[in-house]
Amino acid sequence: MKNNFSIKCRVCCSNDFNILFHAKNYEIKSSLDIKYFLCKKCKTIFLEKIPVDINEYYLNNYHPFNIDHSLSFKDKKNIKFIKKLKPNFSILEIGVGNGNFLSKLYDLGHKCFCIEPYASDTTNKLKNKNIKIISKTLENISDEDLNFEVDIIYSWHSIEHLRYFSSFLKICKKVINKGGYVIIGTPNPESLSFKYYRENWYHLQPPLHSYLINSKEIERQFSEIGFKKIKFCSYDIISMIASKYGWETSGYLLRKKTGKKIYSFIGKFLSFFMPLIEAILNRSSQYTIVFKK
Ligand SMILES: [Zn+2]
Repeated sequence: MKNNFSIKCRVCCSNDFNILFHAKNYEIKSSLDIKYFLCKKCKTIFLEKIPVDINEYYLNNYHPFNIDHSLSFKDKKNIKFIKKLKPNFSILEIGVGNGNFLSKLYDLGHKCFCIEPYASDTTNKLKNKNIKIISKTLENISDEDLNFEVDIIYSWHSIEHLRYFSSFLKICKKVINKGGYVIIGTPNPESLSFKYYRENWYHLQPPLHSYLINSKEIERQFSEIGFKKIKFCSYDIISMIASKYGWETSGYLLRKKTGKKIYSFIGKFLSFFMPLIEAILNRSSQYTIVFKK
């Protein structure tokens, strides 16, 4: 169906989409009912409106911002992976989480930049290390803010928080050196757990995730600006851990919604073997995709 022109797909800008479902954030008492669409053109799942009080949905214990000084398993794995791609590199991280990843790279002697509008505790820590911080949303960044170039752009579970994917693409086009890489981790709308849990899927995080992007569409848009896909992976150990947590927590969320304990048990039961099946099919709850310029 053709829709209201004020609404468009947050990834490809098409206005040809269908209603997919309504979702609610069961961690927030005042959560609104949030409408999600499926773009018929690029298969992105996107929310209709971003609430004006979106910051109230970022709970103080929102886990990526937790200050813990140890490097996570995922951070260690990803640093190892980047070093194999390019031993000496400069890096821009989009959305810094707890800051440990970038902090470690700085300590290892890499030139580091980040874009992080929200996590002030983290950015203060990074400022002390002389890491260049742009405290703006991607949508508000100007060309003057981007007067540098890097070898790597690293976006670990941050693109889905943007209003529109185009703002991320614009930055990749502007600051990546020839021969540089863009590394993206994001929830996977092709995962079996999403197909099963849909509006109750843990990784949907309504309304924090504005869209769930199909990997084929990311690939198409990156190839239009001269980047080549060199890796797609949804079967590694990082994806499997995310999947396991997702199966279990989605069951818990469904229990919270319905009041039926059985859903917690089902979620836990499925979490024992479904991550393995998803890994075999390369359809875990998150994927990593890498592009080279
Ligand atoms: Zn679209």
